[in-house]
Parts: sequence; structure tokens; C-alpha cells
Amino acid sequence: MAIGVCKMCGDHGPLIRAHLIPDQLLKRMVPTDPRKTHVSVSISTGKLKRKQTLESDSEILCAKCDHLLGLYDEKFLRFVDAWLSTPGRDEIVARDVPARTASIDCDPAAIKLFILGTLIRFSASSRYPNLSLGPYMKVFSNWLQAKSIPQDYRRYASAVMIGMATHWVDGNERKIDLSQMARQGPTLCRLGQAYIYMFELLGLLILIKIGKAPWPESFRSYSDILRDRSRIDLPIIPFDTSLVFRNAFEAARESRQLD
Ligand SMILES: [Zn+2]
Repeated sequence: MAIGVCKMCGDHGPLIRAHLIPDQLLKRMVPTDPRKTHVSVSISTGKLKRKQTLESDSEILCAKCDHLLGLYDEKFLRFVDAWLSTPGRDEIVARDVPARTASIDCDPAAIKLFILGTLIRFSASSRYPNLSLGPYMKVFSNWLQAKSIPQDYRRYASAVMIGMATHWVDGNERKIDLSQMARQGPTLCRLGQAYIYMFELLGLLILIKIGKAPWPESFRSYSDILRDRSRIDLPIIPFDTSLVFRNAFEAARESRQLD
């Protein structure tokens, strides 16, 4: 067991093996063969890898902080289950009709804290040197330790979530619903003035804007996840509107020809 400084609370002591995103999400992802391995697509190399577990890091969190983040992981998993069983998610969505909306009962503040906790884990991990949260690491760690989000949270972070309609494609051995795939790490992009971290998890496109800069024009019609409600309203958009997933699918198709 590594000894070091917990990146979240700052205490010095034993650190535990922390998953960067909840291992339980694996069970929700499409298995690609009978041995129940899962598929991971590298955008940079275009390679399709089969993995048994998602990545973890033994040098970022103490047991107390990992347990705290675990409470939010569970709330997110329940949210994902509700999302994956949303009736009508698989109806064909035409590109030129207004987006439909799925309303999912949950605690939006907890989902937001899950998202920020996950960003903290990736940003704390030396495996993702490009994902540093800088001074916001401390801000979000404090929110998580206080188990609440302040009134003026939009000065620091704003999160929107968009759902992708079911989208079947021909996989190696059978049809795969692309909206049950996931990229295990966030992508950081600078759009206009804003820094935006983007997760694509099981048909959920999660965008987190850090800092006061406004959302770029193309995202302004999507509303912030409101912490003081009892549900999240997810607009559902056609799958091919998601650039990252489209790229992932192209990469998967190319690497299949190399297999
Ligand atoms: Zn800690």
C-alpha cells in the first residue's frame, strides 16, 4: 500500500487503489464477446482494446475520500440505470425534429458532485497530465467534503447533460448499441473562452465548463443541471450528432479490419 498525500483532503497516510470511474459502470457497458470483456476504443491510435477492468490509480486517494466519492458513484449508477431503461430512448429521432426530453428522478446535486468527483480523480492521476483542474481542484474537493454545492457554484463550474438515442451498429459478432459504450476518460477542449471537460458514458454526453467564461454558442440551448430540483431533464438527440462517438465508431471499424 502506497503512503503519500491524499489529493483530495491533503492528509498524509496510506493511499488505496482508487478507480478513476466506478468499476460498476463496466457491468452496464456492452460486452463484446462471451467472456464478457469490454471494448475500449483509443481515438489517438484507432485501436480497439478489450479490457477486464477500467483504470485505477493507487496514489491519489485515502480510504476516507474514496469512500465519500463512492457514495456519489452509487447515485450516478442508479441514474444511469434509470436512463438506460428510459422508455422511448430507442425511438428513432429525426435530426430535424425538436429534441425529446427524458425526465429522470434523482438528486441533481449528488449527480453534479459525482461528475466533479470523477474530474478530481482524473485530474489527480499522473496518468492524465493534460487534465489538471489547477486551483479548482481544491474548490471542488471542499464541496465534496462539505457534501454540498454553494449558491454561487456557477462562478466555478456548470454542467450540462445530453442523452443520445439508441443507435444500433454491426459489431464484430453481433449488433451493438453504441449508446451502451463509454469512453473511460474525459476529453478536455477549449471552446471559445471556456474550458470544457467532456465525458461520454453510456449514451450520456456530460459537459463540464470550468470557470466564469460563458458557454460557447452551440451549447447555450442546453440548461445547467440545477442542484435545487428533484430530477434531471435530458434532451435526447440523434447519435450521429455526437462527434466523439462518431469518431470512436470510425476508429473501431477501421481497427476491426486490422484484427
Ligand atoms: Zn483523503
